[in-house]
Amino acid sequence: MTGKTAHIVNCPTCGKGAKWTPKNPFRPFCSERCKLIDLGAWASGERVIPGSDADGAMSGEDEEGAHRLSPVN
Ligand SMILES: [Zn+2]
Repeated sequence: MTGKTAHIVNCPTCGKGAKWTPKNPFRPFCSERCKLIDLGAWASGERVIPGSDADGAMSGEDEEGAHRLSPVN
């Protein structure tokens, strides 16, 4: 055994196995392309963090639901 087994992680962009090694500057991505795609997605707002941005957009629907649930005399 030489201990050269590479640690494999799933690329967040394409889901393929990416080698987690010092030789892979794009980790946890499998390639530079996937890294750029992920960064681009964040920059363009395609990815939304649940509970932050969605809060404002859902507030109207939320209020409606609250009114239905709460007993109003
Ligand atoms: Zn990838």
